Amino acid sequence: MSVETQKETLGFQTEVKQLLHLMIHSLYSNKEIFLRELISNASDAVDKLRFEALSKPELLEGGAELKIRVSFDKDAKTVTLEDNGIGMSREDVITHLGTIAKSGTADFMKNLSGDQKKDSHLIGQFGVGFYSAFIVADQVEVFSRRAGQPASEGVHWSSKGEGDFEVATVEKAERGTRIVLHLKSGEEEFADGWRLRNIIKKYSDHIALPIELPKEAAAAEGEEQPALEWETVNRASALWTRPRTEIKDEEYQEFYKHIAHDFENPLSWSHNKVEGKLEYSSLLYVPARAPFDLYQREAPKGLKLYVQRVFVMDQAESFLPLYLRFIKGVVDSNDLSLNVSREILQKDPIIDSMKSALTKRVLDMLEKLAKNEPEQYKGFWKNFGQVMKEGPAEDFSNKEKIAGLLRFASTQGDDGEQAVSLADYLARAKEGQDKIYYLTGETYAQVKNSPHLEVFRKKGIEVLLLTDRIDEWLMSYLSEFDGKNFVDVARGDLDLGNLDSEEDKKAAEEVAKTKEGLVERIKTALGESVSEVRVSHRLTDSPAILAIGEQDLGLQMRQILEASGQKVPDSKPIFEFNPSHPLIEKLDSEQSEERFGDLSHILFDQAALAAGDSLKDPAAYVRRLNKLLVELSV
Ligand code: ADP
Repeated sequence: MSVETQKETLGFQTEVKQLLHLMIHSLYSNKEIFLRELISNASDAVDKLRFEALSKPELLEGGAELKIRVSFDKDAKTVTLEDNGIGMSREDVITHLGTIAKSGTADFMKNLSGDQKKDSHLIGQFGVGFYSAFIVADQVEVFSRRAGQPASEGVHWSSKGEGDFEVATVEKAERGTRIVLHLKSGEEEFADGWRLRNIIKKYSDHIALPIELPKEAAAAEGEEQPALEWETVNRASALWTRPRTEIKDEEYQEFYKHIAHDFENPLSWSHNKVEGKLEYSSLLYVPARAPFDLYQREAPKGLKLYVQRVFVMDQAESFLPLYLRFIKGVVDSNDLSLNVSREILQKDPIIDSMKSALTKRVLDMLEKLAKNEPEQYKGFWKNFGQVMKEGPAEDFSNKEKIAGLLRFASTQGDDGEQAVSLADYLARAKEGQDKIYYLTGETYAQVKNSPHLEVFRKKGIEVLLLTDRIDEWLMSYLSEFDGKNFVDVARGDLDLGNLDSEEDKKAAEEVAKTKEGLVERIKTALGESVSEVRVSHRLTDSPAILAIGEQDLGLQMRQILEASGQKVPDSKPIFEFNPSHPLIEKLDSEQSEERFGDLSHILFDQAALAAGDSLKDPAAYVRRLNKLLVELSV
């Protein structure tokens, strides 16, 4: 062992300790994945070197084939992985193997319940990477040297995976990283050529560079131990360059886990080769589960970009719109230059046409999934539905296609699950129905019982129930689907079109005429609180409701604006009353103007409450109501 200098002991970041604990206790049934994770890192490190060497060939230090070597020592109970990739400097090692850089990690760790079953589910969402070494090892040593640094600048990292780790500066002749796992007692099975070979074949066959194991060359009796001979055990070609028909599902799945750092299989994938004016291959995946940081602004997103098989960058964001940021995959272009930068990507017209083609591919893949595997699609929607709802605003040209992928709760479901597509809705629309009706609100419980739905229930017309924060905003971008307009049932003067018979309409007009006097009285009583008072034909059971003006902001949008500190334009609701409700009849015959005023205000406030709004003057409401209650009881 060479001389160690500048030795120091450092503590792991709290989140690393939590992750280590979680991992060791939740992944024991799937221990062998440690090798996949370490090989995946080694392969990334080689990719990075290859790319950096394009502009700095001296980093290759005179060549040597890029590869990963895995070896073992049965007696010492060690497994060793070595790559000749980019390597790490002392600072790199301290940050990369001592902290977790992902934003939102600390918040995520707060979700840990201590219940190992539940938490093991979370680990998949997080991805484990390097630290998975501690599933099988009770001591891990890393020897690394960053390409381009002198041999004297090697670094030795060592830890038992508890609270801290040691780093020291050492001599390291070869560039790259060597990881030595000291196997825990009971895990000696991994120090075995056969076992390692099987694990590599199973999880890492798709890795594009050679993974070598020592050949099992037994020394003949009386001979010296022969020099190690190595053999490549994986296929060592880039998966996406192979023809689709030759790739097994398992290979696609393992490749996904490598690039996405995910534990679960993807829901679906789409592998394509485009030839002609533009030449590129793409392999796109829909994950089964949302990562913990899906809504973090700085969370990694985008595809892995290769140019003519050479890795160029991770998280190339210019190839897909933001609302598809959960898609993982690679794109390998023959047209881009190897020294392409993020800035160039943003401006290059080639990228624009690739982006629109890739977007179509993803939307097609999702359509197929929805059609062929509706159960899987339900899961997809639970995880990514909220993000998909950003689509119509961002991607005007695919609005109709995206709308077809949306799923909603509706009055026909009884549990609030978002499972109804617009196509389902239209397929069971009433004869003569040429609108898509919807209602937005805070919670499913609130909208489900909204008085706005009374007439729809009576006529048996389905209404979509939208209660996600983003819904009202979404609907401001969706005006029609399949030629049918969307209608907010809480807005304006509800016109049911052909769904109201001529007789109904006539009867309603008659009633309205006889109530003109009452309308005026209420108007005077409510004064500035309302923009209009009118007779309602959408109520059967409730005495009154508030409708939103055709151009006014709805409650959700108002709340979003208020929460972000913006000034919300003043708007007054329309007060609609149900002329045949006993309370309204009572109001109509009320002689005392004071009591008429009180009752009108109470009805107004109740309508606001039923819509999920808060009262401007709750104390006044209580005072008026109590006054009436006292009068009632004497
Ligand atoms: P992730 O791979 O998800 O970033 P890891 O914990 O697996 O997380 O690794 C942390 C970082 O350590 C990597 O991003 C990389 O920068 C560095 N690293 C890990 N293994 C190697 C390696 N073999 N060669 C060079 N750098 C490595």
